[in-house]
Amino acid sequence: MKDSLLNIVNIENAVVERIQLPGADSEINIFIKREDLIHPAISGNKWYKLKYNLIKAKEENRGTLVTFGGAYSNHIYATASAGKAAGFNTVGIIRGEEHLPLNPTLKFAAENGMKLIYVSRAEYRRRYDPDYSDYLRDRFADSFIVPEGGTNPLAVKGASEIINNINIDFDYVCTACGTGGTLAGLVAGLNGKKQAFGFAVLKGAGFLNHNVKNLHLSFPGREYSNWQINLDYHFGGYAKITRELIEFMYEFEKLNGIKLDPVYTGKMMFGITDLVKKKFFKSGQTILAVHTGGLQGIEGMRPKIEKLFPEKQIIRD
Ligand SMILES: *Cc1c(COP(=O)(O)O)cnc(C)c1O
Repeated sequence: MKDSLLNIVNIENAVVERIQLPGADSEINIFIKREDLIHPAISGNKWYKLKYNLIKAKEENRGTLVTFGGAYSNHIYATASAGKAAGFNTVGIIRGEEHLPLNPTLKFAAENGMKLIYVSRAEYRRRYDPDYSDYLRDRFADSFIVPEGGTNPLAVKGASEIINNINIDFDYVCTACGTGGTLAGLVAGLNGKKQAFGFAVLKGAGFLNHNVKNLHLSFPGREYSNWQINLDYHFGGYAKITRELIEFMYEFEKLNGIKLDPVYTGKMMFGITDLVKKKFFKSGQTILAVHTGGLQGIEGMRPKIEKLFPEKQIIRD
């Protein structure tokens, strides 16, 4: 049973490729790990975060995964797909009101069998409240609750595997940070060696330092100091974008043939490029960026992107 769960994705597809950064010709070596290629719907890092949660839910004979997210959430999208493939019912507690027709993210989730429940922002804020979890467990018999973004100690354990068996030597591993679960996992995987570098995609994300530290105290149960989070590349906040960001992503795709998403990986790659230009890294150093996926989100961002470029349609497929 565990084996069939693990066959949902193909982790062999996550090759490491050398890339170039737009406008930054430098002596830094940059590579990307293509976790976006492990499954068409289960966004790279979200698989690693779900993996041990799914295994635990099966071990406990729970039939229903209940989780939380916004209307464009990569985690909701991934959980609907992974839940279906692993034989779970899925319930998505969605922040805000229902808008019909459903956006592409929620349409996909619903088509994959996820029951969507819309809650007010006030109710959504209770997502970590133990009384609210009890209420959900009463409402959905046999449910296993996965937190927002999938982030919990089991997610950290899963994300630590992203850097198993990397066949290049590197100085830094980089990821975009929402909740910090993936960064915490990468740090756990490094186990005290090299450096991990997170790029916050939310504004005012100083709390992430606290989150990552607390996650480590639960898994693997120790603290690390070889990591940092940069707070300068949020572009105004979560899912906020600028022309500069979108033009950068377009240049990056032209140069490398690799698509980025505007919410997470685009901001991380912009941040890496800017820091390379500012000589933050030393000549000869090697950076490994994790492509955490999230490409499903481009469709939902399209209206915002088109508004920024009234004169042309810059993002093509
Ligand atoms: C969710 C997500 C992240 C952030 O992961 P956290 O573990 O919440 O920090 C990064 N990149 C993509 C594409 C994501 O979907």
